[in-house]
Amino acid sequence: MNIILLGPPGAGKGTQAKILEEKHGLKQLSTGDMLRAAIAAGTDVGKKAKAIMDRGDLVSDDVIIGIVSERMDKPDITAGVTFDGFPRTPAQAEALDKMLAGRKQKLDAVIEMKVDDEALVERISGRYTCAKCGQGYHEKFAPAKTPGVCDVCGGTEFTRRPDDNEKTVRDRLQVYNKQTAPLVAYYAAKGNLHVIDGMADITRVTGAIGSVLEKVKG
Ligand code: AMP
Repeated sequence: MNIILLGPPGAGKGTQAKILEEKHGLKQLSTGDMLRAAIAAGTDVGKKAKAIMDRGDLVSDDVIIGIVSERMDKPDITAGVTFDGFPRTPAQAEALDKMLAGRKQKLDAVIEMKVDDEALVERISGRYTCAKCGQGYHEKFAPAKTPGVCDVCGGTEFTRRPDDNEKTVRDRLQVYNKQTAPLVAYYAAKGNLHVIDGMADITRVTGAIGSVLEKVKG
């Protein structure tokens, strides 16, 4: 089963994609994570992407389509994929259609996570991550139980994404509204769009996604 989680930055796509991977074995394919890994590894793609990401713009369609296509051919993708942060432009959506058709696969559902722009700024600006194990936290909504100590691994160093500051978050939201929001109409016209409330708490959102998956399984 292949699904897209569609929604602006901070909508909770990554959180839900990780849950779907644990519960249903659908691999999380996050283009943002792949680009951050490329930056950390110092690859050519990473070097080109860094400045673009830091200012909140989109990396070129060609680069993104290339890394997704390569990832889709890895043998660990057996039960399917949750696309997280991809596609972000109509050209990427069309490329995904072709990629899936070429692999005799289909898109089972596109789940739009509806959220409020102002709430997103608060959600994203408070995010931080354990530098050792990658566990995600939020200053206000999900802080570490003991301040400064990771609940999971006991690590004491935390990182923040350079693009998780208020100015860049607002720019990323504008980019989303202009370049990615048109995909809602694209998938609605194809008949596989499902809209859920992304403002609900994590468990409720997981439940809503589960209901969509049940429905499309038939
Ligand atoms: P994310 O982690 O999904 O919020 O992505 C972080 C940044 O990576 C974005 O602001 C873009 O600069 C870049 N990026 C991630 N996915 C894509 C994509 N599908 N198309 C273009 N740029 C992307």
